[in-house]
Amino acid sequence: MPNRAGAESALFAENQTPLSPMNIHEYQAKQLLKQYGVAVPDGDVCKTPAEALAAAEKLVAAGHKMLVVKSQIHAGGRGKGTFKSGFKGGVKLCKTAAEAKDLAAAMLGNVLVTKQTGPEGRLVSTLLVAGAPNIKKELYLAVLLDRATSRPLVMASTEGGVDIEEVAEKTPEKIVKEQIDPALGFQPWQGRKIAAALGLKGDLANQCGKLLAGVYKTWWEADASMVEINPLCIIEGTDGKDQLVAVDAKIGLDDNALYRHKDIQAMRDLAEESPLEIEASKFNLNYIKLDGSIACLVNGAGLAMATMDIIQHYGASPANFLDVGGGASKDQVTAAFKIILSDPAVKAIFVNIFGGIMDCNVIATGIVAAVKETGLKLPLVVRLEGNNVVAGKKTLAESGLTLITGDSMADAAQKVVATVAK
Ligand code: GDP
Ligand code: MG
Repeated sequence: MPNRAGAESALFAENQTPLSPMNIHEYQAKQLLKQYGVAVPDGDVCKTPAEALAAAEKLVAAGHKMLVVKSQIHAGGRGKGTFKSGFKGGVKLCKTAAEAKDLAAAMLGNVLVTKQTGPEGRLVSTLLVAGAPNIKKELYLAVLLDRATSRPLVMASTEGGVDIEEVAEKTPEKIVKEQIDPALGFQPWQGRKIAAALGLKGDLANQCGKLLAGVYKTWWEADASMVEINPLCIIEGTDGKDQLVAVDAKIGLDDNALYRHKDIQAMRDLAEESPLEIEASKFNLNYIKLDGSIACLVNGAGLAMATMDIIQHYGASPANFLDVGGGASKDQVTAAFKIILSDPAVKAIFVNIFGGIMDCNVIATGIVAAVKETGLKLPLVVRLEGNNVVAGKKTLAESGLTLITGDSMADAAQKVVATVAK
């Protein structure tokens, strides 16, 4: 699973598996936040240097004296990142539209490496060109789900613009945490409390209360797993008054709730996701790659977890989590096999099906088709149980394929572990 740096890792102990959310780009996160009244700098998204020039000219005409050109990738640490071309900085300030165009030309089509991308980096194909206000102070703000208390949690800090994990480690007292009662929602007094902790007074404290309410509402209504604003900035507004503005924004969404957010689904950027996981989601398969050598093909998340446990119990490690769902079709099973087999670390396959709703014969037919189609050479252990199991076993037996069958889950698990232990 991708490493999720930021608020979640700052909050949770290392042994807790983070959620596996769908991420969106900064410019998209800002579009959502803006709908909930959160102030964000003016800006436009661009895909070519010419578009960047046009966006920058518009901002200059609107009175912006400084501009910022920001690489849009699903990873933080862009400001301090370096492109493989040698160009330094995925977030750059400039004064004129011509400079913005040059910066865009240097970033677009190049691979940006940051602390969070890993050495392979990410290809930059989209930019945000925005007005760059004069920043007086950088703060930190996040809303996430605290799984220890099963409640939403607001985290805020006066130490913005830097890695929050570092703040959590070195000066944890500088992070304030405020639990929200999900039934009541975010309360005005909690806004005042956090504003005070951030040292905000007068009008800024009022702005902070409103902004927090908007950020919380975004988190809640979008079914987000996390909204992180780092930095949240005090800037000098055009009217000379101080203003609170979200200068960076990151949103992770719970993909189990995506079906009810068509607008957010449209924000998905497949270029940023792992190819195997994308392929799996096309077929409605719940697939997560892991580090072991035994691939699992299972129906139902609970059974999939139990299957991973039993593989570990008998001394091997699962290569993936794969739930084909309660009513998988033959095509889904074939797709699942292909996905499993594209992982070179896989040394054996364990199919563990309990047919409650699932027809075992559909699985068996899918297995036979997939094995023939993929020319499978790896050991395959199958345990089928439940609905229409007799027909399923018959299909397997008559297929002429070499496969190992297990009488029970434990029996099958031991057999599959034995194939990789050799
Ligand atoms: P990240 O490095 O991926 O987290 O990208 P950010 O958007 O947080 O930008 C990194 C840093 O660049 C921020 O902490 C700011 O210090 C600076 N920066 C970003 N946008 C602006 C801006 O509009 N104005 C100014 N003055 N600085 C900015
Ligand atoms: Mg940032």
